[in-house]
Amino acid sequence: MDKLFREAQKYIPGGVNSPVRAFKAVGSNPLFIERGIGSKVYDTDGCEYVDYVLSWGPLILGHSYPQVIKKVREALEKGTSFGAPTPGETELARMMVEAVPGIEKVRLVNSGTEAAMSAVRLSRGYTGRDKIVKFEGCYHGHADYLLVKAGSGATTFGFPNSAGVPQDFTRNTILIPYNDIIATERVVKENHREIAAVIIEPVAGNMGVVLPQDGFLQKLREITKKYGIVLIFDEVITGFRISYGGAQQYFRVIPDLTCLGKIIGGGLPVGAYGGKREIMDYLSPLGPVYQAGTLSGNPIAVAAGAQSLKLLSQPGVYKKLEERTRSLVESLRENARKLKVDMHINQIGSMFTLFFSSYKVYDYKSAKKSNEKKFAQYFQGMLKKGIYLPCSQFETNFLSLVHTEEDIEKTIKANYEILRTLK
Ligand code: PMP
Repeated sequence: MDKLFREAQKYIPGGVNSPVRAFKAVGSNPLFIERGIGSKVYDTDGCEYVDYVLSWGPLILGHSYPQVIKKVREALEKGTSFGAPTPGETELARMMVEAVPGIEKVRLVNSGTEAAMSAVRLSRGYTGRDKIVKFEGCYHGHADYLLVKAGSGATTFGFPNSAGVPQDFTRNTILIPYNDIIATERVVKENHREIAAVIIEPVAGNMGVVLPQDGFLQKLREITKKYGIVLIFDEVITGFRISYGGAQQYFRVIPDLTCLGKIIGGGLPVGAYGGKREIMDYLSPLGPVYQAGTLSGNPIAVAAGAQSLKLLSQPGVYKKLEERTRSLVESLRENARKLKVDMHINQIGSMFTLFFSSYKVYDYKSAKKSNEKKFAQYFQGMLKKGIYLPCSQFETNFLSLVHTEEDIEKTIKANYEILRTLK
């Protein structure tokens, strides 16, 4: 695999098509994956791993789910892309509208980045305002003005987080610490005439899993409503993950716009944004806000997505996922207690993060107190035991419907053995 990585690096910057995959945070070369079946992935050396990455979230049904693959094959035989309306797009849109409380109309795009970027543009077009509020540690894809450094003070305006983003492009982005309702109220009150949208991951998954504190989302809903600001829930991770209707259904807080991705494509490239009819009808060709895509609504992706949602809409699916995850997480906590390891797990539904920290993690700053060196050792130890985890302390572990009791037992056992070596 090292040879494959060397070869990849000759032609692809860093050898990867998305930076986190390079394993930099855990100090080794990445695995090259050959195939995935159910809860397992197999690398090019033929080694088997229980997979908690699941392509960073989409594969809630596990790898190569037979009914999804069948639908993809059937779609493929009809052609790959037409750039014209197809019935499958309407079917997937209808399923999203029926499932997600805040979505009355929805537009398909090709990635989560596009979904968030388009939702922000639409909010600006709809309100005629320029500024947006974003929370530290939340990731909304790599659009310039959303790539803003976390860690600035509550009321300071954003500084770009990447070279190549002019500071001018982020001056309309206001950063606030996650879960800080006082700062949010103050900032919104002071700037409300200029704020088009507040965008948030209703459960954060990109600083590790961080849950909204009681009343935080409700308060956001209240103040955005009061000032006519569009509330955007970025549910690229949480959509169809923590419940069929996403975080908004789970917490009973309905945003104006919702971003989706990952699960709605069943593992193929897809994103979507949707919301109130009145706002969505501002989009071209009905309204003045432009957004388009050659491959948007791609028939293969749509077929995989619609079949995935069909399977997920069956009764009991999310209860089963949550119970399994909670039981796994409880055992991991028990291991840490027994071995007196400073570890803290945040979990909701089938997503969780194990922080190497004695502190509760409720925002970006507290997440950053975790011991990343310990995490890297833990990651490598688990990998050797056949458990494939996300390769950063600040990512989310996912469980699928096809993880077996044996997978979970194996994980708990490996966790105990590796935690013991970290002591
Ligand atoms: N929003 C959230 C909450 C995400 O987690 C991600 C990606 N992990 C994105 C947006 C961007 O999605 P994509 O990588 O498909 O562009």
